[in-house]
Amino acid sequence: MNHGLGRRDFLKLAGLLPIGFVAPPLVKKLGAASLLQGERKNVLVILFDSFSASNISLHGYGRKTTPNLDKLARRATVYFNHYAGGNYTTPGTASLLTMTHPWSHRAFRFAAEVVESYMDKNVFRAFEDYHRIGYTHNPLANILLSQFQRNIDEHVPMEKLFISDDGLIRDLFAKDEDIATVSWSREMKRSEYGYSYSLFLSRLYEKYKERKLASYKERYPNGLPNTNGGNYYALEEGIDWLMDEITEFPQPFFAYVHYHPPHFPYKPRIEFNNIFVNDLWKPLNKPDDLFTEENSYETLAKARAYYDESILNVDSEFGRLFDRLESSGILENTWVVLTSDHGEMQERGISGHVTPTLYQPIVRVPLMIFEPGQLTGREVHTPTSAVDLMTTLLHVTGHDIPAWSEGSILPPYAPPSDSEVFTVQARRNNVELPLTEATIMQVSGKYKLIYYLGYEQIGGAGERWQLFDIEADPEELNDISTTKKDTASELLEKLKFKLKEVNKPFQGG
Ligand SMILES: [Zn+2]
Repeated sequence: MNHGLGRRDFLKLAGLLPIGFVAPPLVKKLGAASLLQGERKNVLVILFDSFSASNISLHGYGRKTTPNLDKLARRATVYFNHYAGGNYTTPGTASLLTMTHPWSHRAFRFAAEVVESYMDKNVFRAFEDYHRIGYTHNPLANILLSQFQRNIDEHVPMEKLFISDDGLIRDLFAKDEDIATVSWSREMKRSEYGYSYSLFLSRLYEKYKERKLASYKERYPNGLPNTNGGNYYALEEGIDWLMDEITEFPQPFFAYVHYHPPHFPYKPRIEFNNIFVNDLWKPLNKPDDLFTEENSYETLAKARAYYDESILNVDSEFGRLFDRLESSGILENTWVVLTSDHGEMQERGISGHVTPTLYQPIVRVPLMIFEPGQLTGREVHTPTSAVDLMTTLLHVTGHDIPAWSEGSILPPYAPPSDSEVFTVQARRNNVELPLTEATIMQVSGKYKLIYYLGYEQIGGAGERWQLFDIEADPEELNDISTTKKDTASELLEKLKFKLKEVNKPFQGG
């Protein structure tokens, strides 16, 4: 395996050098490439979808879900109070990539794009002097990557890492790929739901497919993970793909790779199956929320165990990727980041993340930044936001921070910011109107305010709020909005001021 720089890459790199610079005839090692680049280090952002910080042992969870991250934390800056911009893929990913809150980019409805005025306000544009690569397993995130495509040098097609995307299928159904893909996914579903549509499949294809499926059945006895619509994938293949490709990316690169696990359906590989489902650890039994979906404690505990097993799978694959980044020398000249677009919740009667509530398991996500060559660990406990991440990566690679960014530079690269951290849920709100049905979370120091506006459950035009001291009560068991009235009204006033400000451009729209 050649871990050096390809000729094409070298030429691209050399093109960036001042005239008169005499390049060595061969550059074999990435160390040399790094020298040529000066401070222009690569950036690799790895996102695992729906990865809650509440369920990882690195942050004190009761199950050992992240043995690899626990170990790698000694070489990373770990953010213990890092918050997503939204509560599901569309707003969460859009906030990450645009460095703005959902009330600005307006991608808060299901499968939305950002508004037109934000199309070019994205991190890919800001890294325009880098080779920019974007990939996601998640169709909702892919809508955004497609929207930002003109600022991405290589937008890798989502299907690239789906099992249904296979050369043979394309050869067999060259003129009708849709049929091939649909048939494939329906055939896969047959085993799960007991129906089949195989009218279009040739016998050759059937044979081939049976063999291929059989090989996955051993690795995935409970079925393959998929992105709901039948896009089946195996995480290890996605990691293998990146490990193979990354040494060939023209440098310096900015790569955003967004994997679907540990997102539902929780279908970990065989070695992670049933690790937690029958263990003795019991999750806290929290009272049902006003927005309960009426799942029982037992149902939620079981879903949580499968989710935790998916996290264990993710942790193992990230560990494998990290080892490879290290042995190939990439780590020496690359900022590597692990994060998520939002979390996941299995408590208070609620399962998943599409809910008006914004409790910690849904909004608090992992963030680990591995500086090039970093060998000691650092911990950051101040509250930080998804809109800060790309802002910081631009800063540390010597780029200007675009004026539209709503993020701050993260500590330790700047002193901690004292601005509030926000997460916004506005899934049913009109994009062109002020927020009238929404949930807004505001974290100020140790206090967290959750403000609900306009939901039927609170009387339509009504409002409701909760206040938690997340330092003393990280599980959010005591709503102190009535016992700490002064704090609550002070924070509420701030939040409403902000809301008024962000709603202003949409007034009378
Ligand atoms: Zn997501």
